Amino acid sequence: MQTERLRIAIQKKGRLAKECQELLKRCGVKINFSGDRLVVHAENMPIDLLLVRDDDIPGLIMDGVVDLGVIGENELEEVRLERVALGEPNEYVKLRRLDFGGCRLSVAIDKDKTYNGPQDLAGKRIATTYPNILKAYLDKQDVRFSTCMLNGSVEVAPRAGLADAICDLVSTGATLEANGLKEAEVIFRSKAVLIQRMGEFADDKAALIDRLLTRIHGVIQAKESKYIMLHAPSETLEQVVELLPGAEDPTILPLAHDKQRVAVHLVSTENLFWETMEKLKALGASSILVLPIEKMME
Ligand code: ATP
Ligand code: MG
Repeated sequence: MQTERLRIAIQKKGRLAKECQELLKRCGVKINFSGDRLVVHAENMPIDLLLVRDDDIPGLIMDGVVDLGVIGENELEEVRLERVALGEPNEYVKLRRLDFGGCRLSVAIDKDKTYNGPQDLAGKRIATTYPNILKAYLDKQDVRFSTCMLNGSVEVAPRAGLADAICDLVSTGATLEANGLKEAEVIFRSKAVLIQRMGEFADDKAALIDRLLTRIHGVIQAKESKYIMLHAPSETLEQVVELLPGAEDPTILPLAHDKQRVAVHLVSTENLFWETMEKLKALGASSILVLPIEKMME
């Protein structure tokens, strides 16, 4: 059943929830997240948010129940492979990768064991929440293994005698270390992504998705960019600009009382590290200001 309002599924609680809410807020979508509802309506746009477990988001998109969803690529790929195996609908459109939810799916083994490659996993039992991604990866290497499906506490499986190894999400590796494990092999790198259901959209909805996507683009770009202002000697100007990534077209302004120096304003695509600031200074630059950018549209 299609509705006129754009339906977006996001994680209700967990590692992606807060950043999804923050992203929508920065895109100008006004939503009151207080309370414990499954569906919340945006106040200023025809958008409804579905707040669900992340496990449900890929299926909601693949079955065409919601229009957009934000999900970790790991979960998305696991559900896709599972649905391919079952012959269920498994298609979606990836609109864009987002700038949060970064992690990797890795095989980890006892920290005291040696590891020479995937063939060491042959015949072993591996505990995981992602049996399909793991199988797709090890099938390619011709490694046969068995799984132990666990939806939580995967990292304790080897110590509990349930498995020889695990395959789980890692970001810092601290959880592995705390459980006497070490990362042996990265099998999948993941970030949060914005996905869309297959099929046609009414013109209004398609236009709204376009607008939202442009805004998301702007929000992410703004976060990754800085507005830089500085004074530089005219004679080192070229070298100064070369130090600033993404500054193809700086604005150069004369200074009122100093003919040898100019003011340079530009948007840089990277944050400025102290090292670069020091190099700028060595080239004679002064009054260097690095400012955050709130919004951006090209
Ligand atoms: P839900 O209750 O919605 O099912 P969950 O427990 O399955 O939540 P979370 O732990 O909230 O899931 O993680 C959601 C997603 O966040 C993961 O699928 C992954 O894409 C991403 N993520 C980023 N860093 C990590 C990490 N260190 N560990 C686990 N997931 C991470
Ligand atoms: Mg989940």
